[in-house]
Amino acid sequence: MHEMSLTNGILRILEDQARTRNFSRVRTVWLEIGTLSHVDPEAIRFCFESTSKGTIAEEACLVILEPAGQAWCLDCSQSVTVTRRGDPCPICGGFMLHVTGGEELRITELEVE
Ligand SMILES: [Zn+2]
Repeated sequence: MHEMSLTNGILRILEDQARTRNFSRVRTVWLEIGTLSHVDPEAIRFCFESTSKGTIAEEACLVILEPAGQAWCLDCSQSVTVTRRGDPCPICGGFMLHVTGGEELRITELEVE
């Protein structure tokens, strides 16, 4: 399950941050998981709950935001919103789409103490 290694990566970032910013507990983590990222937010939530035990993020609350996918349509020459990879352009129905956003997995904000 690749969500497990992603979650481990997130926890490593949190512990690095704790060292550099000098905090000892993470209260809330805001995580952005793009809808085109191939990452299952529920799986991340599940993995986070089990792997954060015994770490600074043990009691952290996970807030997951799922920004919509963005793509540039070569036929319309404009940016459109796509909900799924492989979907046609919602304006012209074409498939000449170049994904420009919604693939990210990143921590956007932390509440710490
Ligand atoms: Zn189009």
